[in-house]
Amino acid sequence: MWKNLPKCINCGESYQVPQLTCPKCKGLISVPPISGPSSNDIRLSSMWSLHAFLPNFSKPISLVEGNTPLLPITNIEYYRNLSLKLEFRNPTGSFRDRACSLIVSDAVQKKTNKVIGASTGSFSISLAAYAAKAKLNSVNVVPQNLELSKIEQIKVYGGSVVEKGESIEEAINHSLLMKKNRETYYVSPENNLLTIEGQKTIGLELALQKDKLDSILVPRGSGSLIYSIYRGFEDAISSGWVDKYPKIYAISLEKTKVAHLAESLEVKKVFLLDEVKKIIKNTKGEEIEIDAESMLDEALELAKYEGLFIEPASASVLVAAKSLIKEKKITAESSVAILSGSGLNTLNVYAARLRGKKKVVWGLSENSTTKFEILNLIAGKKADYGYSIWLSLGKNQSLQSIYQHLTELEEKGLIVPSETEVKRKHYELTNKGLETLDNMRNLIDFL
Ligand SMILES: [Zn+2]
Repeated sequence: MWKNLPKCINCGESYQVPQLTCPKCKGLISVPPISGPSSNDIRLSSMWSLHAFLPNFSKPISLVEGNTPLLPITNIEYYRNLSLKLEFRNPTGSFRDRACSLIVSDAVQKKTNKVIGASTGSFSISLAAYAAKAKLNSVNVVPQNLELSKIEQIKVYGGSVVEKGESIEEAINHSLLMKKNRETYYVSPENNLLTIEGQKTIGLELALQKDKLDSILVPRGSGSLIYSIYRGFEDAISSGWVDKYPKIYAISLEKTKVAHLAESLEVKKVFLLDEVKKIIKNTKGEEIEIDAESMLDEALELAKYEGLFIEPASASVLVAAKSLIKEKKITAESSVAILSGSGLNTLNVYAARLRGKKKVVWGLSENSTTKFEILNLIAGKKADYGYSIWLSLGKNQSLQSIYQHLTELEEKGLIVPSETEVKRKHYELTNKGLETLDNMRNLIDFL
């Protein structure tokens, strides 16, 4: 199926199976650069227009992925004219669709009936969708406490979800225990070479889409996206489409700031770290660390002023672009920022920010959510009178409305005054209040 047989870059051994790590020496396995047709002969309509660079499959599984547009920023002053590569326009809202199209095509070719995947979410959503198209069962292992909007999307596509471990590494370890069955195609974005070969089409498309391209800004994560884009340029150079690599900027989060805003950027072990370092050095790029909190604001600005709704992790490249343009290290006109995923995949994070809540409980009205938060505060002895509750809830609503909620909770017999000072009424939960809180906690997972 390969155009060029994959080879270990360390010991030189060739392989047919699409694995990423050499079983002999643990080196990285890579497809040697492919010389394809002239750029004039390519008419882009999907990633598969680049089939000359992709493995052959008897029955390719496609939802029309790739060929994502480049759109320049027009309204935000800081980075006006910066081109954005809209990877969230892919079928399930992320660049992972390019990978899963190849992976599921391979699973079909190998006559498996089930795929098992482990990831931080976007990859699993994509895997579930492509498995649905191919009529395969999919099982997706994800870390616990993953975004509800990601989990629900996996289920919508008919995929089953197994929540295991605190981090992606733990989820992967668990999924490895499940892969014993021969009928099963096991995949994580970090163990399958087809991930890289699918995602490299971003690099090939960029070589066709942008004439003067000096710099690309890419979220780092495990390094897979950066390495893939570089692989795309290897093929583009080998085919004579362009004569040099653009500078590649790898954007990651400051180490101390793990904010659970962007699971995909919060990897403990950077699988392709050595490769990323080499690429940055080869292309004269740079590694940039940004503050996680600023991503959400940046993403909201982009939605408000440019009409583009992306996930917080994707906004990391915009935060970096701002400083790189300011320091005159890049020019907006000749740079591209990769927007890797859709805001719809992290809807809860945005809903919580817009409503001033720690966590949004879907299905509960905003008033009921506040009452639930108040019961939690009183039960946990964190605050037990109006003013202190108002402070604990972050002053996001009027003090008056907090008193109103307390009155209503008292009328329903869920709380009673424990002691009354001259101007201050302290509360405690009644048995009915404790029972209600317990029931609510059983129904929903609350931090
Ligand atoms: Zn090797």
